[in-house]
Amino acid sequence: MIIKGLTEIVGEKYVAAQEFVRLTYTNDFSVSPPKVPVAVVKPGSTEEIIKIMQFANEHKIPVSPRGGGSAQEGGCLAVDGGIVLETLRLNKILKIDEENGYVTVEAGVTFGRLMAELEKRGWKIGIAPSGALAGTVGAHLSRPGVGWGNIRYVTQGDQVLSVRAVLPDGTIVDTGTRSNPGAEPFFRYALGPDLTGLFIGAEGIYGIVTEATLRIYPNPEKVYIERFKVAELDTALKIFRDIAVQDLVTFISAPLIKEKDLFFDVNIQGFSGEVDGRAEKVRSIINSYPGVESLGSEAPQSFWPNRWYHTGEEFLEGIAGVVNFFLPHSELGAGLRTMRQLIEKHGIKNYVQQLFPGPTGAEVVALLFHYPKDQEEYQKIHRAIEEMMPKALQLGGAPYSKGRQWAPYLEEQMRETGYWSLGKAIKKLVDPNNIMNPGVIGF
Ligand SMILES: Cc1cc2nc3c(=O)[nH]c(=O)nc-3n(C[C@H](O)[C@H](O)[C@H](O)COP(=O)(O)OP(=O)(O)OC[C@H]3O[C@@H](n4cnc5c(N)ncnc54)[C@H](O)[C@@H]3O)c2cc1C
Repeated sequence: MIIKGLTEIVGEKYVAAQEFVRLTYTNDFSVSPPKVPVAVVKPGSTEEIIKIMQFANEHKIPVSPRGGGSAQEGGCLAVDGGIVLETLRLNKILKIDEENGYVTVEAGVTFGRLMAELEKRGWKIGIAPSGALAGTVGAHLSRPGVGWGNIRYVTQGDQVLSVRAVLPDGTIVDTGTRSNPGAEPFFRYALGPDLTGLFIGAEGIYGIVTEATLRIYPNPEKVYIERFKVAELDTALKIFRDIAVQDLVTFISAPLIKEKDLFFDVNIQGFSGEVDGRAEKVRSIINSYPGVESLGSEAPQSFWPNRWYHTGEEFLEGIAGVVNFFLPHSELGAGLRTMRQLIEKHGIKNYVQQLFPGPTGAEVVALLFHYPKDQEEYQKIHRAIEEMMPKALQLGGAPYSKGRQWAPYLEEQMRETGYWSLGKAIKKLVDPNNIMNPGVIGF
């Protein structure tokens, strides 16, 4: 019945019902227990998504939206008896508005494609995930993701001016100024409460984002990158805070956090004179601390043009269990050390800790590696994650991407709050049959 109904909406070619295809949709980039969807539907337009949602709502079929499936928290996995709705055919760049400084795209456009198109015209977006060749705009803002740019531009959510979303009953919602019929999506906070925010961070539980408008910026005249080595973690954390709160760089990347001898890159983009001035100020801050050495610009600068192709090289060691969350600058030392103690307590063979500072805190990342066939290590990683996620929340941490992995711990930590009851009440209102990505976040 499900396959017949979906085929009538999108055509046979765009409903995957064969087992060998469905098996390729059983996971994202996470180590969640795999789930086989009943079918994978690949709509090509908002109109088709409306019909799919009306059909699913009528028959109470759970729907899990999926872009590139490159997130790590199991958010796009099917639930029992449910379907996966893949957005990759919604791949049009609808309007690059150079006069007003924004771009409107369909949700399934990948960052790789969007950035290539913008660059040809001398523009860029603020935030892109390093997994840009697979990651889609609709998914990234739905987490909301971070990426290379997150001191100056914060998160993808901060870049969004408007979304078009389809609710579980098929209603279309345009947000920001676009909610006024015929108006352009040029301003987010207008005409009423910020309903764009309802879809940012929601990972599809309130509806499917089908279009989005993001701000664009001129391509930088100059990109300056310098790599530093620091003797002590606590010194590095002070440097990150000083640079970030003074808004001096586009981003800092610290992909190998250790207690001693760690490395980080500062990346400064902008007009030539501006970049030189910022670099000088950054160097004077860094040089005011002991035990810091500049490793120069050559290595990071030569990586820069190939960054989208070389990203993820750390995953060559195997598939990663991932625990990512934000902490304020003041709590980073304690947070990193607590996570490391838990990882070591479980005897994880191979892991890295990373740090990606934003303006008011940083993303704390732990990647726990294992080979798919190493079942013993897989179980260890699961047990470690079961301790790390609740601990992160108790420390005041905030996961930006929740998926299904964080849901039980979020509920445990938050269920008595007004935030949780309002989130649940909105869910009940827009999705009374609970068909829209059920189990994600935990509302
Ligand atoms: C090597 C590598 C590097 C990465 N680097 C980064 C990084 O720097 N920053 C970062 O933030 N992430 C990063 N990621 C994670 C991920 O690639 C990005 O967040 C990416 O944007 C997710 O897009 P996706 O289309 O693959 O999402 P998916 O995995 O398909 O979906 C993610 C979530 O969004 C929901 N969703 C998908 N589409 C929609 C929609 N249209 N409407 C509503 N909900 C939707 C899904 O149900 C799911 O819950 C990285 C991943 C890899 C593998």
